Amino acid sequence: MNIVVIGSTNIDMIAQVPHLPQAGETVIGGTFSQAYGGKGANQAVAASRMGGQVTFISCVGDDTFGTEVIQHFQKEGIYTDFVFKEKNVATGIALIMVDEKGTNSIAVASGANERLSPQHIDQARQVLEEADIVLLQLEIPLATVIYAIDLAKQMGKKVLLNPAPAQRLPKSLLSKVDILIPNEIEAEMLTGIRFEEEIKIVGENLLSLGVETVIITLGEKGCYVIDSQSARQIPAPQVKAIDTTAAGDVFCGTLAVSLAEQRTLIEAVHFANAAAALSVTKVGAQPSAPCKSEIENFLK
Ligand code: ADP
Repeated sequence: MNIVVIGSTNIDMIAQVPHLPQAGETVIGGTFSQAYGGKGANQAVAASRMGGQVTFISCVGDDTFGTEVIQHFQKEGIYTDFVFKEKNVATGIALIMVDEKGTNSIAVASGANERLSPQHIDQARQVLEEADIVLLQLEIPLATVIYAIDLAKQMGKKVLLNPAPAQRLPKSLLSKVDILIPNEIEAEMLTGIRFEEEIKIVGENLLSLGVETVIITLGEKGCYVIDSQSARQIPAPQVKAIDTTAAGDVFCGTLAVSLAEQRTLIEAVHFANAAAALSVTKVGAQPSAPCKSEIENFLK
């Protein structure tokens, strides 16, 4: 199961503070932690833990974070020859402040993620040729996403797009996507339809943009799967949620590997729901991604 993930790498720097500072205010008395993040990296790690042979295409900076995060990917069993170390730019950083109520405020300095270009994708042609599934998100330049999807489709590959963070996308891009996996906010942004409308209308609208299959993730309610043949909601297992960070990323990474293993779409979605539900029972983005045996045990 060769999975190519194309996307962002960030270092999350998290300060737990008594309250979020106002403009110009300094808040003292917090605690600090650092974690690996970025939607691309989260999805690559989730896919690797699920047993996929994962190649990650991403850019990091020529700094200590860049070196550190590549070593981390290697420990996770991810093939890193196409994690490019770019000169004169910092590795992507997310500065996250969380107050005592759990409310957060986040600033992302995309840094090297902005450098991921069509030329980088070209350098990785060989691994794309060997891919069973290509999985992308939108934390890298849109021109690169468009180029990579065009190339993958020319090669006859199955393309999964998680359109996050939410933004409008050209129909010419969506029509090349095999499986689109938005959450509710992203689905609203793509269609312009408020979610108070029936979910079927949102799903059908996305199909009318040329996507083959749409999976709208619905948090604790699981997800809604629609294609030209059928539409159904598939509930997630009930769990005690502690931290929902990166639930969507775990869903996407697990789904990619499950599909590459030739499971049916519905089986793969059950697996992805279970993995994502398990991930919300643990703190953190990448640390919470379960491995395949945990998911299988959970489903027994
Ligand atoms: P995102 O993290 O992108 O906002 P969602 O919140 O829709 O995405 O969650 C993605 C998936 O994670 C859901 O489809 C579901 O499988 C799982 N999930 C999220 N929250 C919960 C929860 N509280 N209980 C069980 N599963 C959950």
